[in-house]
Amino acid sequence: MKKLRGRFAPSPSGRMHLGNLFSALLAWLSVRAAGGVMVLRMEDLDPDRCREEYAAQLADDLRWLGLDWDEGYERGGPHGPYRQSQRTRQYAQAFQNLASQGLVYPCFCTRAERLAASAPHRADGQAVYSGKCKYLTDGERKVLSKTRRPAWRLSVPDKEICFTDGVQGNFGENLLRDCGDFILRRSDGVYAYQLAVVVDDGAMEINQVVRGGDLLDSTPRQLYLYGLLGLTPPAFCHVPLLVAPDGRRLSKRERDLDLGALRRRYTPQALTGLLGYWAGQLDRPEPVEPAALAAAFSWSKVPRGDVVVGPEI
Ligand code: GLU
Repeated sequence: MKKLRGRFAPSPSGRMHLGNLFSALLAWLSVRAAGGVMVLRMEDLDPDRCREEYAAQLADDLRWLGLDWDEGYERGGPHGPYRQSQRTRQYAQAFQNLASQGLVYPCFCTRAERLAASAPHRADGQAVYSGKCKYLTDGERKVLSKTRRPAWRLSVPDKEICFTDGVQGNFGENLLRDCGDFILRRSDGVYAYQLAVVVDDGAMEINQVVRGGDLLDSTPRQLYLYGLLGLTPPAFCHVPLLVAPDGRRLSKRERDLDLGALRRRYTPQALTGLLGYWAGQLDRPEPVEPAALAAAFSWSKVPRGDVVVGPEI
C-alpha cells in the first residue's frame, strides 16, 4: 500500500481555537498510526487576513500540544513552498489549464447583485450563483471591464458528484443546483481556496485529507477540480464539529477557547485527553500523550455528529 500522506492546512488569520486543534490532532493521529508523513501547509492566501506572526504562533501551539510534522512550514521538503502566499505561479497554471478548457468566465456582479440574483441558498449559507455573467457577449464584457475588475468563475455541469467520506459516509451534491458556478479567482486577483487547496493537495501528493465537517460540502467541488486538472483525489475524513450545549459552534465563541487561553488552563496532556475523549478514543478525559493515543487510534470510534462540549471546558 502507498504510504499515507496527510496534512494540516490551517489559515493563519488568528489564534487557533479548540476546533482547529481537534482537526489537527485527528489528522496527526491518523498519519502517525499508519506510519505516514505529516505535512503542515499554511493557507495564507488572503493577504488582508493572514499574518506571519499567526503562522509562527500556530506552529508553536501545535508543538506545545506535542504534534510534529515531517514536511512543510519551517521544515521544507520536496513539494514546497508550503505557504499558499508563495504558490501563486502554481495556481495561475491550473487556472490557465481550466481556462483553456473553456470552463472559466469573468463575473462582474457586485456582492449585492449576486445576492439579489441568486437562487436558493447552499447549506453553508452562501448563495447559489445564478449564472448571470456566463452568457455575456464579448462586447458586453469589454464594456463592463472598463469600470470593474471581474472575478473568475468555473462553469459547472448539471451533474451529481458523490463520494464516500471516511467519517460521514456517502455524500453527494449536484454542482449546478446545489452549488452553482463558483469563484476560482477573486476580483482582487487572489486565487480562491477551492482551487488552491486542490492544486496543493495534488502537488504535495496528499492521499488523506482530515478536516472539519464544515468543509464536507466543499468536497464535491474539489473532486470536480481534481478531475479537470488530471489529479488523483485523496480520501476524505470530515471530523465532527465541536459545539456548545446550545448548539453554537465553539469557534464562534470569543477568545476563551483560543490556544492562548487554553494553554493557561491546561497541560498539553490534559488537553490531549479531552480532545481524545471527544474523538471517541478514550472512555474518560484523562491526561495522555498524543503518541499513546496514536498507538490505539481507530477511525471507527470517531463520532459522526457534532460533539457537544459541555461546561467542563
Ligand atoms: N484552510 C482551511 C481552514 O483553515 C482548511 C482547508 C482544508 O483543510 O481543506 O479552514
